[in-house]
Amino acid sequence: MKVTAVDTAVVEANYDWTYIRVRTDEGHTGLGESFLAPGLTGIIHELGRLLVGEDPRDLDRLWNKMRWGSSGAGSMGGIVYNAISGIEAALLDVVGQHYRMPIYQLLGGRFRERVRVYADCHAGEALESLDPLMIPRHPAWLPADQQETQALSGEINRPVHGRAYGEPDAAEIFTPQMYADRAKQVVDDLGFTAIKFDLDVPNPHQLDTHSGTLTHAEIRFMEGLVAAVREAVGDTIDIAFDCHWRYNVTDAKRLASAVEPYGLMWLEDPVPPENTEAMRRVTASTSTPIASGENYYLRYGFRDVVEREGLDIVAPDLQKVGGLMEGRRIADLADTHYIPVAPHCIASPIGTMAAAHLAAAIPNFLALEWHGMSVPFWEDIAAGHGGPVIDQGFIRVPDRPGLGITLNEEVARRYAKPGEPFFGETP
Ligand code: MG
Repeated sequence: MKVTAVDTAVVEANYDWTYIRVRTDEGHTGLGESFLAPGLTGIIHELGRLLVGEDPRDLDRLWNKMRWGSSGAGSMGGIVYNAISGIEAALLDVVGQHYRMPIYQLLGGRFRERVRVYADCHAGEALESLDPLMIPRHPAWLPADQQETQALSGEINRPVHGRAYGEPDAAEIFTPQMYADRAKQVVDDLGFTAIKFDLDVPNPHQLDTHSGTLTHAEIRFMEGLVAAVREAVGDTIDIAFDCHWRYNVTDAKRLASAVEPYGLMWLEDPVPPENTEAMRRVTASTSTPIASGENYYLRYGFRDVVEREGLDIVAPDLQKVGGLMEGRRIADLADTHYIPVAPHCIASPIGTMAAAHLAAAIPNFLALEWHGMSVPFWEDIAAGHGGPVIDQGFIRVPDRPGLGITLNEEVARRYAKPGEPFFGETP
């Protein structure tokens, strides 16, 4: 069996859903998804040149070939691994089809038939769409009432790019009631048993979004959001909160301590991810479980923080960490320290299902993220599953060969990103 072509398509959803299709001379078509990044499809097309003529069953050798070919010796991370992760998933889909085995079997077999999914509720409001630089954009499918451009209050004589840059709309205040309403709706209407909210949202006491500091009033406000969610859903639902790397060690510790009474599933990324010792100080200071991992690459990126027990829960993103087999290695590393794995995931059903195969195949799985709640066509873009991909907060991992689902190309084409090739058709 030989690879004959590697091509891409991009769908403009809440993020750029970047698909990789691998074709073989046996007629198999494998599908993978990469985590968005500027310039990503160019990297994927370049790496594809390394694979044409190769036997996709030599997965690990080809994975190494892409590493060496793209970044030279000793490459530790970066966008190239977003590309490699999606390509590797597509190769696994092909190999699974060839051997008539689901991907979870290629990863060691199944611990569970259903994978628990947690719903990312963002900041309790409807979702925006962000481009590969995390700048808000307005695709046609986004309802008109969510298309107002963000504007900071006051005169700022330069471009403003929104909350990801620590530049929130000052008029935008999130209330405990908003969080409570959203939590109840997601649990009651959709059946999720675990949910996550953003905690680093604009608040009435905010003085400086760039300093990493939190005032007492801000911590009390954030505690109020957490309390409202716990109150709304009761003790049978697991709740987690994300801080997006915003705070210094001292204030992260104060925040983690303040939310201890609410029994969080985890507090995510209270401090930036680069400094293991800083993360370890926060983790060691509190009974609130600390999670991180969406910015780490490869098993090597996780080694130090896992071995020094710098966090309680690892959250690799399977569309960027290096691939599904690398995810298996990271899960095993975590398991030697009895640390659970809760994969980060902002993918479409294609990448989410790939992550679900891994989640089924590792012992120390906790919950898999779903970040697509407000994308109206999230479910529609999947085909071949015989029902919704996510049903009452769980994904049933398919027994069919390979990934077990595919893309509804008609839907993908409808929302295709202008200017990007669509599986070999140039725009
Ligand atoms: Mg996060």
